[in-house]
Amino acid sequence: MRRSKVALVGAGPGDPELITVRGQRLLEQAEVVVHDRLVDRRLIDLAPASARRIDVGKRPGHRPWPQARINRLLVAEAARDRRVVRLKGGDPFVFGRGGEECAALASAGIDYEVVPGISSALAAPAFAGIPLTHRELSHSFTVVTGHLSEELESEGATVDWDAAARSETIVILMGLGRLPAIAGRLQQAGRDPATPVAVVERATTSRQRIVRGTLQDIALRAASMEPPATIVVGRVVDLAQSIASAEAVA
Ligand code: SAH
Repeated sequence: MRRSKVALVGAGPGDPELITVRGQRLLEQAEVVVHDRLVDRRLIDLAPASARRIDVGKRPGHRPWPQARINRLLVAEAARDRRVVRLKGGDPFVFGRGGEECAALASAGIDYEVVPGISSALAAPAFAGIPLTHRELSHSFTVVTGHLSEELESEGATVDWDAAARSETIVILMGLGRLPAIAGRLQQAGRDPATPVAVVERATTSRQRIVRGTLQDIALRAASMEPPATIVVGRVVDLAQSIASAEAVA
């Protein structure tokens, strides 16, 4: 099999043990690692000492790398015949702009492969003891972003909360900053104010925190939570009581 020059690798949600075996192997053979801010140092350290490591994530005091510049970097390093690993938090294709990077590589004629990762959309509920589906309570779950791109929002586009509200279980990424508005909007869309909600901060890491409430009071209860956090809405949240360890549930 011909070797791909660029691998988009999902790093998993936080705990470095949650990367895939294939992702780990590719990292161990990488010559260049292009990584996001949230990726654990211990994963980046899996690359050989000689590998070039490039942090393209948002850093305080630094301007974020525009996506087009990241795309150009991947193409340029691959064109120099380097084994490039693009290491992205969670899964590369879940709100990670992995699709844009693949399109840039494809249009430059560069071979790539995608190694899926465990998305925080799945890991955060799992580590909070919340089953996303349940034979009686939940026959579907929807994963939705808390906001759209600045460009789309400036044109007046909004997340389709009415559609999201129709799913029994709703998992919201990038939503913490707008939690009061989101909780209000889901009630407006017909969800009972007593619907249970959990906010899971830094899921799977040693600093994981969980706060639970209802659509009515979660904004207040979770006011001190910080990103990255995943919000889970639906009756399955109540099952956490019987599943999660007492220590993890606030
Ligand atoms: N591709 C990533 C998501 C990128 S968007 C994935 O599949 O997980 C970034 C959002 O992911 C954050 O705003 C947060 O909602 C969520 N997230 C990432 N890491 C998280 C973690 N450790 N705990 C809870 N949520 C997390």
